[in-house]
Amino acid sequence: MVGAASAFRLRQLGLRTTLVDPCDGSAASLGNAGHIAVEQVAPLASWPTIMSAPRRWFGRGGALDVSDPIVFLPWASRFMAAARKESFQSGSDALRSLLLHALPAWRRLAKEIGRTDLLSEAGHLLVWESTQTASKGRAAWEAADTGTARIQPLPEATLDSLWGLTRNRPVDGIRFSGTAQVSDLGDLANSLEAAFLAAGGEIIASRVESLSNKNGAASAHLANGQNLTADIVLVAAGVGSARLMSGLGHRAPLIAERGYHLRWTDHDWPADLSPIVFEDRSMIVTRFAGGLQAASFVEFGTAGQKPDPRKWARLAAHVKALGLPVRGEPSAWIGCRPTLPDYLPAIGRSDTAQNLYYAFGHQHLGLTLGPITAEIVAALADGREPPVALQPFDLNRFESRKAKRA
Ligand SMILES: Cc1cc2nc3c(=O)[nH]c(=O)nc-3n(C[C@H](O)[C@H](O)[C@H](O)COP(=O)(O)OP(=O)(O)OC[C@H]3O[C@@H](n4cnc5c(N)ncnc54)[C@H](O)[C@@H]3O)c2cc1C
Repeated sequence: MVGAASAFRLRQLGLRTTLVDPCDGSAASLGNAGHIAVEQVAPLASWPTIMSAPRRWFGRGGALDVSDPIVFLPWASRFMAAARKESFQSGSDALRSLLLHALPAWRRLAKEIGRTDLLSEAGHLLVWESTQTASKGRAAWEAADTGTARIQPLPEATLDSLWGLTRNRPVDGIRFSGTAQVSDLGDLANSLEAAFLAAGGEIIASRVESLSNKNGAASAHLANGQNLTADIVLVAAGVGSARLMSGLGHRAPLIAERGYHLRWTDHDWPADLSPIVFEDRSMIVTRFAGGLQAASFVEFGTAGQKPDPRKWARLAAHVKALGLPVRGEPSAWIGCRPTLPDYLPAIGRSDTAQNLYYAFGHQHLGLTLGPITAEIVAALADGREPPVALQPFDLNRFESRKAKRA
């Protein structure tokens, strides 16, 4: 999402633009929940997240897990620092400033690639299954900063109508307005690629093995043997970005925050029903053009690790317990959210190589923030003032901490 949208915007500037991607289907952008989550203003690096971790632990029925403690522990120490009150507050301000532009940027991108039909702005629902979780959850959302999204109680009639889709009637719920959904992620990827190619962009289906710095300029070495030099090199490789940046002396403490989904092609979910978050189960159910999908889990690990099949089994158990109207065998998917310890993306320009730009680390919000990130990248490349102040997203925020410690 981030790389393809940025390539499209760079090409629109009239720059000769080449997108390098192995196109191996591993992108998180191809299997996420499809939710344009402008309500998620509060960074997850927060004390409420830390305090709720024990009860959200996978072993206790929750969605949180660690599959690589060696990678997780140093990341977690930075996460704890970012959860401090002042850092959390400045992180919220930074994320709010980006999210403010997210949906307008989405509308512009959808229009310019000729696919406004892929974006539905009908909001989303969130339900609770017990009175206790409902009263706590409702109070938390009412107190939360939801940016440009608004919440209102779910009418009894809506709760009744959901009952037809779930075994038990949800006890309570809220409707978010101002949020949106992408109806087909594969179609989005293909349309973005087609628009980029039609605008004169070029795609090389290969992996960047490394980036090197020669006389202050970054160049790329590809797995197919090609060496690429360019006036502008943008690293937007999701969870693969840290390794590429390290070749140029940048330290990006990126972790793979792995999520899982199951998708059923055979189901009776209404076409016009917005995504539903079953908050007690930390699970979001989205109807895509290609099927009904249930997604969940925050598993801190590394990208190459084997998936944990217990996560899919748990998802299937949730769907069964809820009695969702699905039939047959689902397809199973795992993907890596690229997450930095303060839950802010890294967007900016390098100070080690004059032609190097970066845009990665979009955590749970890469689909949401892809289009505005692309507009920011284009503004930087064009020498214009970006629409959002970029200082909070500068990658040096991690390096200066290291320097301070030293
Ligand atoms: C279960 C789940 C649900 C989610 N739900 C949502 C949601 O509802 N809304 C939302 O906004 N976000 C959601 N997210 C988060 C979102 O999917 C990610 O933030 C987003 O996809 C990141 O986009 P990206 O372009 O940075 O990375 P990716 O989509 O992972 O793409 C990275 C690309 O870089 C390429 N690449 C990697 N290394 C190299 C290399 N060395 N050389 C060349 N190319 C390389 C990869 O092939 C890939 O195509 C969810 C994530 C998960 C896992």
